[in-house]
Amino acid sequence: MSRPLEILRTVFGYDRFRGAQAEIVEHVINGGDALVLMPTGGGKSLCYQLPALCRPGVAVVVSPLIALMQDQVSALRQLGIKAAALNSSLAYGEQVEIERRMRGGEIDLIYVAPERLMTDSFLTQLERCQLALFAIDEAHCVSQWGHDFRPEYLKLAALQQRFPEVPRIALTATADGPTRNEIVEKLSLEDGRQFVAGFDRPNIRYRVAPKGSSSRNQLLHFIRGDHANDAGIVYRLSRAKVDETAQWLQEQGFNALPYHAGLDKSVRAANQDRFLKEEGVIMVATIAFGMGIDKPNVRFVAHLDLPKSLEAYYQETGRAGRDGLPADAWMVYGMQDVARLRQMVEGSDAPDAQKRLEHRKLDALLGFCETTRCRRQVVLEYFGDHCEPCGNCDTCLEPVESFDGSVAAQKALSCVYRTGQRFGAGHLIDVLMGAETERMTSLGHDKLSTFGIGREFGKEEWRSIFRQLVAAGLLRVDVAGHGGLALTESCRAVLRGEKTISLRRDAVAKKTASRGRRG
Ligand code: ADP
Ligand code: ZN
Repeated sequence: MSRPLEILRTVFGYDRFRGAQAEIVEHVINGGDALVLMPTGGGKSLCYQLPALCRPGVAVVVSPLIALMQDQVSALRQLGIKAAALNSSLAYGEQVEIERRMRGGEIDLIYVAPERLMTDSFLTQLERCQLALFAIDEAHCVSQWGHDFRPEYLKLAALQQRFPEVPRIALTATADGPTRNEIVEKLSLEDGRQFVAGFDRPNIRYRVAPKGSSSRNQLLHFIRGDHANDAGIVYRLSRAKVDETAQWLQEQGFNALPYHAGLDKSVRAANQDRFLKEEGVIMVATIAFGMGIDKPNVRFVAHLDLPKSLEAYYQETGRAGRDGLPADAWMVYGMQDVARLRQMVEGSDAPDAQKRLEHRKLDALLGFCETTRCRRQVVLEYFGDHCEPCGNCDTCLEPVESFDGSVAAQKALSCVYRTGQRFGAGHLIDVLMGAETERMTSLGHDKLSTFGIGREFGKEEWRSIFRQLVAAGLLRVDVAGHGGLALTESCRAVLRGEKTISLRRDAVAKKTASRGRRG
């Protein structure tokens, strides 16, 4: 038996490696750098803990959260592993003692906060130790525009210069393409290998549809048809909507309960308890619900409002089917949801660059909603993972009707160009539809050749077209300006008529057919 496998069994008590663990462990034991992307619960810790035991010296683990550090250390100690944590909650004497043991080679894994690690005195101490590896947990914290940005993480780049011989392994559960590149760049991991694994949830079937005139009837149809007696979660954006939907489902005869931060703590706890213990309870909830909920037989997760990003969507839907049996992720979305989310982004007091990132994330989510491709492929590619067309999502099972949207795309793209690539979809649509407003006249846009050339579609249809163009990479939300839409390199071929564009029919319903449709 190989040494890593032996340690896996005798120390950690597992029979076999899971997914890419074996490959990662071997790579790091052999001294390679790595960036590891796995979903939460995927088994990232083992990827550095096991090499830490196989390589001589102490492994230094950087972790941003003191509470998590403490948990990990106690879990390791229970396995008989010599682990310790250095953080500001320790008394001075305790710190000195831990550092002494570390220098004496009496510690296998030491967890430190980044600000602590990068102090001169600590780095000097490390130079006197034999080092097994550096593990950088929650590596997305280096991303400047991410939610969890930690300025101290940027300093970690210096580890490479100071300890060039020591392998570094960065780990995270959340990183889209740009964030991944940012991690590689900021942590100088260019020569390392990237491992993206474990994101696919093959037993979950993805279905997304535009909202019809009554989204709650759509929900009812879905639950009655496919999940009449099942446990499930229905996500809503606001507390008021949670209460409303829960009550309505109760009136329809379901065992539905509300959950949101506005409810009394005891009510929340009681509802959660019933969801976990009783059969067939439907939890109607805001995103306040779900963290740490481990109920294996949740048969469906429904979204009646859009989540705020594809990461959030995947995390929320990931609560379905933990037992590996078939489960559904079902969502309906409408234009009003999109508008509300955009407003939430705009109305926040975040810096502009952050807002642009939020808009981009929203675009990626909408691209997923309106894709004509396998949904699983779209999601997995967003995380850097991949799969074949899955045969277990709505677009695979019933290929969507699409139409040649080349002319519509040309009109939209020319309109962006003529107005100077600084306006958002709202104004561009006004131009295309020939809206005679004061703003139009004062900007002189009623004189443009693209004024009023798009009356064959309604406002919502144009919105969908613009979104699909962003999703297809023909338009981008302007990085330097005020979130206006700008052309990308790849739209040239479309403008010249050399490339056709296929658009979803259901998302761009004909103007006449959509009368009376709610967003
Ligand atoms: P992450 O850090 O990716 O969120 P963890 O490292 O905490 O995930 O692992 C999640 C769970 O999976 C833990 O309970 C861990 O004990 C378990 N686990 C990890 N690797 C294996 C394995 N090879 N076999 C069985 N269980 C494993
Ligand atoms: Zn599919």
